[in-house]
Amino acid sequence: MEKKVELLAPAGDLEKLKMAVLYGADAVYLAGKQFGLRTASGNFCIEDMKKGVSYAHEHGKRAYLAMNIIAHNDSIGQAASFLEEAVETGIDGVIVSDPGIFQTIREIRPDIPIHISTQASTANYRTVEFWHRLGAKRIIMARELSLEEIREIRKKVPGAELEIFVHGAMCISYSGRCLLSNYMAGRDANQGDCAHPCRWRYYLMEEKRPGQYYPIEEDASGTFVFNSKDLCLLPHLPELIQSGVNSLKIEGRVKSSYYVATVVKAYREAIDACYEGHKWDAGPWMEEVGKVSNRDFTTGFLFGKPGPGSHNYETSSYIRRYDFIGLVTGYDETRRRLIIEQRNHFKAGETVEILPPKGPFRELTLQELYDEEGNRIESAPHPQMKVFLGGILPFPVNSILRRRSAKTDG
Ligand code: SF4
Repeated sequence: MEKKVELLAPAGDLEKLKMAVLYGADAVYLAGKQFGLRTASGNFCIEDMKKGVSYAHEHGKRAYLAMNIIAHNDSIGQAASFLEEAVETGIDGVIVSDPGIFQTIREIRPDIPIHISTQASTANYRTVEFWHRLGAKRIIMARELSLEEIREIRKKVPGAELEIFVHGAMCISYSGRCLLSNYMAGRDANQGDCAHPCRWRYYLMEEKRPGQYYPIEEDASGTFVFNSKDLCLLPHLPELIQSGVNSLKIEGRVKSSYYVATVVKAYREAIDACYEGHKWDAGPWMEEVGKVSNRDFTTGFLFGKPGPGSHNYETSSYIRRYDFIGLVTGYDETRRRLIIEQRNHFKAGETVEILPPKGPFRELTLQELYDEEGNRIESAPHPQMKVFLGGILPFPVNSILRRRSAKTDG
């Protein structure tokens, strides 16, 4: 059977890792408390890393550890001791961008596969060759490559595993080559602490007129000079698979488990459909990925340099069409009630969708709600409260309840 391309999902913490695995990822990437470029996500202590890696392996999946900061001198020794501990958890590879960290890993654990992070901005076949000859197993390509360039690299360096980003937020600089956050907020994007000033609203001020802000209007909504839409290459999966890349990566370790589950499931089904040879129609899966918060979608650099259409000129807020309101945690067989853990306020009479890890979602109206004591209730106002939903057939544990929303968040 033809070897399928890997679907690689973000795992910001243990819950997100489990959701990624259950909703169809072939592999996950995660980070420890240091060295992983996403300080805003929960990340993994060694104990949780052990649990997460075991969970992935029990389900036949792989787990990679991100150690892709730009390292200064004082990080090297710490990175070495951290790595010694982390490899004992059973991780299947380490993602690095810094040649010093690369060399350190090769010296102390030459058996661990190394993936070169997109932060290393690998954008041509000679650089792929370079890393491959040094012993890197996989190279995660710069996001700034076109399909033509990816095809050419594949042809010229057939032995290296190639990974590309297919979904998630975009930088306006080459990934990792941005000091905007350091400058504006004192937060280092290359140490995982970006404050995203590229999304902020900008004005023009003449130096002798402090406080007088001249709007530099792109249009009546304001000016978002660096505000890229999110990458979404789902409609082009057939071409990407044919290009011969080995892994398709979803960005978003700081995003919610709802985001991870929904996006992973959409890509899982779409990838499987590509291999089953059905007539290609990305429509239903595009609808699904549109149900998690996003900044509208662009194909980024896939078909050449992005034009004005890749930029969001209207708002830097997320579009949020659905709310994650609950997670199925079990089924009470005796009373025939679905057990839900509340994640957002909901009430009887509302129409919701239940999304299971496999198979289509179902729309239904919430009718009978009960609390833990069996009392009928009208709503579920408290975070994490246990709610029993009557008059409904079982759904698998970890199915998601979502509700249409008109709100946006930023
Ligand atoms: S400020 Fe924007 S462009 Fe710069 S690193 Fe952060 S997200 Fe990327």
